[in-house]
Amino acid sequence: MKRIGVLTSGGDASGMNPALRAVVRSAIVHGLEVIGIERGYEGLLNGWLKPLSLSSVGGIINRGGTILRTARSERFKTDEGLQTAAQTLHDNGIEGLVVIGGDGSFRGAVRLEEVSGVAVVGIPATIDNDIGGTEYTLGFDTALQVAMDAIDKIRDTADSFERIFVIEVMGRSRGFIAAAVGLAGGAEAILVPEIPFDPVQVCERLKQGMARGKRSAIIVTAEGAARAQEVATFVEMYLREEVRATVLGYTQRGGSPTATDRIMGARFGALAVDLLLQGQRGMMTAAHGDEVLAVPLRASWEQPRVLDESLLKLNEVLAS
Ligand code: ADP
Repeated sequence: MKRIGVLTSGGDASGMNPALRAVVRSAIVHGLEVIGIERGYEGLLNGWLKPLSLSSVGGIINRGGTILRTARSERFKTDEGLQTAAQTLHDNGIEGLVVIGGDGSFRGAVRLEEVSGVAVVGIPATIDNDIGGTEYTLGFDTALQVAMDAIDKIRDTADSFERIFVIEVMGRSRGFIAAAVGLAGGAEAILVPEIPFDPVQVCERLKQGMARGKRSAIIVTAEGAARAQEVATFVEMYLREEVRATVLGYTQRGGSPTATDRIMGARFGALAVDLLLQGQRGMMTAAHGDEVLAVPLRASWEQPRVLDESLLKLNEVLAS
């Protein structure tokens, strides 16, 4: 193998840049040439390619987002799109491809490998940490840090005004961020899409806390469980207290990668290059305990991750 390509695709996540840096630098150290493909699969359809050198990835370890930029591509999903993308790989002598993205990008990667014959390796990156086959996805820790900092700041105001706040975090179908950041931020209640909740019970719990002398309360809700404003309106009516709603939204996607995201980006990036050099196909890098290892890309959607409900139970005890 002489030349590999690398792209970032789907939702951006902090840690993509550290992973990209690791891919480029370990590949070059192993004597490979690296072609950066801009704007995900759209770049393969439009020929947005550029050679990457050791210095192309200088100064990016501490930057959120992705210097290769990212995109979603409907055309890539069509037979014509896949053929065109495969042709771009062949025309440019790209013999292996590293795809940094989420499970949607990995579905595309598997199809592209079938159509082109070019070996593809995935690096899981999404703030939601909801990719099957791996216990960690790049961007999760940074998103938690950002959301926890926001909760801490809001807590100052909540305490000062003796008020209830509802904070909405990302998570359309999964509550991984809400559960983790709720626990880290000492939330009085955590709402996740996986578990139905009774708003009356939530209010009653807050009431008990107040009867014990709590001066403020924070409810963390995943966007897919309930919208912050809906929860705030209900709680306000039920408890006859002023309630404020805050949506953290895209702030959670950006920001300088945490040490964990930099270290995992480095380990995933170097492993991805090793896998290509070993001639492996259709694999993704994964974290299991302290190990980084390779699992089939298909695991990303065939083995969905399940929320650890014990985190929520623990939080209920600790929020007493
Ligand atoms: P993520 O990778 O973050 O999950 P998306 O689900 O938006 O993000 O996927 C990113 C891109 O991957 C899509 O825009 C599309 O080009 C490609 N993709 C997603 N699903 C498929 C699929 N089933 N077949 C081919 N390509 C796909």
